[in-house]
Amino acid sequence: DLGTANTLVIHNGKVVVDSPSIVARDRVTGKIIAVGKEASLMQGKTHDNIKTIRPLKDGVIADFDASEKMISLFIKSIPALKKKMFTPALRMVVCIPSGITEVEMRAVKESCERVNGKEVYLIHEPMAAAIGIGIDVLDASGNMIIDIGGGTSEIAVLALGGIVTSKSIKVAGDEFNDDIIEYMRKHHNLAIGEATAEQVKINVGAAVDSLENPPEDYEVYGRNLLDGIPRAVKVSYTEIAQALDRSIAKIEAAVINTLENTPPELSSDIYKTGIYMAGGGSLLRGLDKRISKKTQLQVHVTEDPLKAVARGTSIALKNFDKFSSFLKK
Ligand code: ADP
Ligand code: MG
Repeated sequence: DLGTANTLVIHNGKVVVDSPSIVARDRVTGKIIAVGKEASLMQGKTHDNIKTIRPLKDGVIADFDASEKMISLFIKSIPALKKKMFTPALRMVVCIPSGITEVEMRAVKESCERVNGKEVYLIHEPMAAAIGIGIDVLDASGNMIIDIGGGTSEIAVLALGGIVTSKSIKVAGDEFNDDIIEYMRKHHNLAIGEATAEQVKINVGAAVDSLENPPEDYEVYGRNLLDGIPRAVKVSYTEIAQALDRSIAKIEAAVINTLENTPPELSSDIYKTGIYMAGGGSLLRGLDKRISKKTQLQVHVTEDPLKAVARGTSIALKNFDKFSSFLKK
C-alpha cells in the first residue's frame, strides 16, 4: 500500500514494512540518506543541506527519483529478502493513490520491476480498501467506502466487482494538520510545525464539539509569534473541532455528492448496510458520528483502518485468480 502518508508492505501474509512515506535527501550530493521512520524524525528539523520529501504527498508523484528510491529501499528492507544474496523474482500487487496518472503508474511499476518484481499488478485504492474491510466486492449489492488518508479522501460506491461512482478530494489528514497550524497561529499566536500538528490531532483531534469520552487537554509547544520565544499552550478537543470544521464539511459535502450520483438500486443497498470507513483519518474522534448524522446512515469504522488497504491488497494477491479482473497490469 503505497500511501500518501504511510507505506505498508505485506510479504507472505505478514506486515513487514509499516513506515511513513518520507525520504531525506542530501542536497549537496543528491543522495537519499534516510527513508521511512528515520526520515520522518528529521521532518521540520533539517538544515540547509538536508531536505525531507514526501514523494506522494498530494496523491500524485511529486518526485519520481525519491519515490523510486523509497520503493526500492522498502522492498530491500524486508527481513526475509535481506538474508538472501539475490532478491528472488516477486509477484507484487501495488495499491497506489487513485489520483495517480498513467505515466506515474508506469513509474511505480518500473520501480517495482527494478527490485525484481517479475509480475507487477496495480489495484485501485477503493477496491483494495473494500476487500480489506471484508466486503464481498463481487456481489451485486452496493457498498459505500470512505478512505481518509493523508493527502486525499476517496469516496466510492462499489458493486459487482467494479467502481460505480467515486470521488476523490484533496482534503484529508494533511489538510487537518494545516488547519491546526493555522488555528494555533490565529488563536494562540503560536507557530508550530507539521509534526507537532500531527501530535495535536492524534491527542486532541475531534470532528465534533461534544464527545462521550473526551481526551484531556493537550500541551502544545511552539514559538510565540509576538516575541519569538518558545512557549507552551494548552488546547482542548473542542478547539480542534472548531479548527477542523471547514475541512470536515468539505468531506461531508463530497459524501453527499457521491450519494446523489449513486443509482437508486444501489442507494437502497447502502441504506441497509450503511457506510464503511477506512484510512488513518477515520480515527479522528467523532468523525463517524458526524458523517452518520449528516447522512442519516449507519457508519462503520473498520478494524485497524490504517491497515485496511494493505490487507485488501494482500488478499487480492493471495487469491489472485478470484481477483485478477481488478488487477491492472
Ligand atoms: P495514506 O493511505 O494516504 O498513506 P493513511 O491511511 O495511512 O494514509 O492515514 C494517514 C493519515 O491518518 C495521516 O494524515 C495521519 O495523521 C492520520 N491519522 C493517523 N492516526 C490518526 C488518529 N488517531 N486520529 C486522526 N488522524 C489520524
Ligand atoms: Mg491509503
